[in-house]
Amino acid sequence: MRYDTVIVGGSFAGLSAALYLARARRSVLVLDTGSPRNRFASASHGFFAQDGADPKAMLAAMRAQVAAYPTVHFVDEKAADAARDKDGFMVTLANGETVIGATLLLAFGVSDMLPELPGLAERWGQSVVNCPYCHGYEFSGKQLGVLNVSPMSVHQATLIPEWGPTTYFLNGGMIDPDASANLARRGVTIEPAPVDHLIGEGTDLSGVRLRGGHTQPLNALFVGAPWRLNSDMAERLGCAIEVGPFGSPTVTVDEMKATDVAGVFAAGDITRMGHTITFACADGVMAALAIHRALAFGTDT
Ligand SMILES: Cc1cc2nc3c(=O)[nH]c(=O)nc-3n(C[C@H](O)[C@H](O)[C@H](O)COP(=O)(O)OP(=O)(O)OC[C@H]3O[C@@H](n4cnc5c(N)ncnc54)[C@H](O)[C@@H]3O)c2cc1C
Repeated sequence: MRYDTVIVGGSFAGLSAALYLARARRSVLVLDTGSPRNRFASASHGFFAQDGADPKAMLAAMRAQVAAYPTVHFVDEKAADAARDKDGFMVTLANGETVIGATLLLAFGVSDMLPELPGLAERWGQSVVNCPYCHGYEFSGKQLGVLNVSPMSVHQATLIPEWGPTTYFLNGGMIDPDASANLARRGVTIEPAPVDHLIGEGTDLSGVRLRGGHTQPLNALFVGAPWRLNSDMAERLGCAIEVGPFGSPTVTVDEMKATDVAGVFAAGDITRMGHTITFACADGVMAALAIHRALAFGTDT
């Protein structure tokens, strides 16, 4: 079956693109494996009209609204590979089936590479979080921590005092004197000892146990972990990939979300350093406009 667009990833970016393309009366196939990045969180914040909503319910509503358009089709299957074809792009699914898209939108998201620290993974999205704009407000005035996991962590530690008293856990790492002085100016306490494990009831956090035995009381820990792309499809299609200043990859796109491979577009977390639902949805809309233009005018953007 041939579609105007095959979308790899049916979450915030992919569904937003599908909605706009459907409203342009174009045929769309959405391939999705059902693992959006924020699936660990029970509440999502900062997206208008949905502040505090369950992210799974948000996506279910988005999908239902998109599915109401007759030109949109869904297959809950992994896109395993994609290659240029005389009619556009042939996408091979994990079950061996193939589909053709005149254009291709990559919106497969990223995965956080969490540090292996006992008690951390099971609190991810609850009391261990990455984005203060998404989850900081709910911990206003509480004991906050930032874990040193990448060169980005010291920047995060500088911001977090906006939300409450902050400890920066160097976790055995180093900090240069300028950064240390800046954190002191912001009132951040620096804890040099390595963190042994996290403690607390259920997914709540009550403290971190440091190597040496001391326990630091804590209600939320911010972890700006590096990420990886969920698929190497962009790379295999020949799309340029940039590695950002903190070592995490993004697919290179222009302002219309076109990659440097004609007919291939990309949207959402895979294309940017700042990650929110609002950005992902806006990216999907922009990509849809570019794809529609490419289909209508026979141009790439
Ligand atoms: C713990 C946590 C909490 C967050 N909370 C918030 C918040 O409160 N507010 C906010 O604005 N943002 C929040 N975010 C950020 C938000 O989750 C992302 O910015 C957003 O999900 C990005 O949307 P996306 O469509 O680009 O990617 P994703 O939502 O990650 O979706 C990618 C989709 O592609 C699918 N997929 C992957 N590979 C394939 C493949 N090969 N074939 C088919 N399908 C595939 C996945 O299953 C998934 O459904 C949070 C992030 C995290 C980690």
